[in-house]
Amino acid sequence: MTSPATAYTARWVWCGPGDLRSGAAVVIQDGWVKAVESRPPQGIAVTDLGGGLLLPGLVNAHTHLELSGLAGMMPPQGDFVGWLESMVSLRPEQLRQNGAEATLAAVEALAQNGTALVGDVTNTGKAASTLDQAGVSAVSFYEALGAAKAEPPQAQAVWHGAVLMAAAVAAHAPYSIPTSRLAALKAKAGTLPFAIHLAESRAEVEFVAGVGDEGKRLEEFLILRGLRRQDLHLAADTPLGQLVAADALDHNTLLVHGVQLTTDEARQVAAAGASLCVCPRSNLGLTGGIAPVEELLAAGVNLALGTDSLASTPDLSLWAEMAALMAAKPGLDPEAVLTMANQGGAQALGQKGKFGVLRPGAAAPLAFVPLSGMPQREVIEAVARGEHAEPPISVGRLGGYEREEGG
Ligand SMILES: [Zn+2]
Repeated sequence: MTSPATAYTARWVWCGPGDLRSGAAVVIQDGWVKAVESRPPQGIAVTDLGGGLLLPGLVNAHTHLELSGLAGMMPPQGDFVGWLESMVSLRPEQLRQNGAEATLAAVEALAQNGTALVGDVTNTGKAASTLDQAGVSAVSFYEALGAAKAEPPQAQAVWHGAVLMAAAVAAHAPYSIPTSRLAALKAKAGTLPFAIHLAESRAEVEFVAGVGDEGKRLEEFLILRGLRRQDLHLAADTPLGQLVAADALDHNTLLVHGVQLTTDEARQVAAAGASLCVCPRSNLGLTGGIAPVEELLAAGVNLALGTDSLASTPDLSLWAEMAALMAAKPGLDPEAVLTMANQGGAQALGQKGKFGVLRPGAAAPLAFVPLSGMPQREVIEAVARGEHAEPPISVGRLGGYEREEGG
């Protein structure tokens, strides 16, 4: 049984890069985009959202929903290793107290704020059913750590109607997984995306190179967690080199952060066809830096955008991440930043064509950004800079109950 089709129109509709339309309408049925028409169609229910931009639902390519209970407890202060220390001391007790409740609230925020798909790093898989019920698609990255901890399940992608529930493989980072396990995890990921935090901090780069005070601090932190440097059998002296040595850098690899990547490494990532997810507020807070976005774009790397967890960013708004990135790198093309939050993320999560675009066969929900009156040429930049008239919303989202009723 299918539900009746319904259409949404707005002053402006962004279908993808270079494709901003005025007064177009998007037809949705059972959670799928059926058509994009130049004008609202006759004979079906049409919702006119009014002044603002209708666009594909955003793709938050990197978060950790199960850490939501740590919101506001350990604000980043530019000290990456110190933040890791707070994390391991606060996490167990705090998440026992309010983990489930906070995760539910975080998912609800994503469901309301125009997010269609998330890349959610997890050790428990607990957020997946909450996301499914809320009508937010997910690639749940089961994250392995150390020599043997937290072995991920087999990777697989399942659709519940128009909601994707995929299980994929993640490795924590090059400094916390032995080379041989890194290789095995990448193989296990199959053709689904394989995520890894990479080149996030100076401490990581120094640790892998075996130099520096920050590298030493990270080494001491890891020893206390039972991870000795010699047990990693490091095969290279850079985080990216370590990934290459483990045969884990290819077009299905999703690198996260990349704050410390060099211009040469940007070219290497581009040549491999890998994606990189930038988490602007978390990166700036934890490390004072941000990936070389201009160099990465110029090299042709597919870039995505993520919020990271509520342990290192104030909320799960990708709109705020776009604005933070524009503020940090004022020379960036606003449409390139909007693309990172849409089809860049979709590609990074192995979902090109299914999310991040408005075309038949793509999945809802869509997003709508209320805007004040402005010429069409200013619309994309206003959205990228966060100059909204009111908070953005999700459009055409089907929660679990509605999907069941709709058949
Ligand atoms: Zn992360």
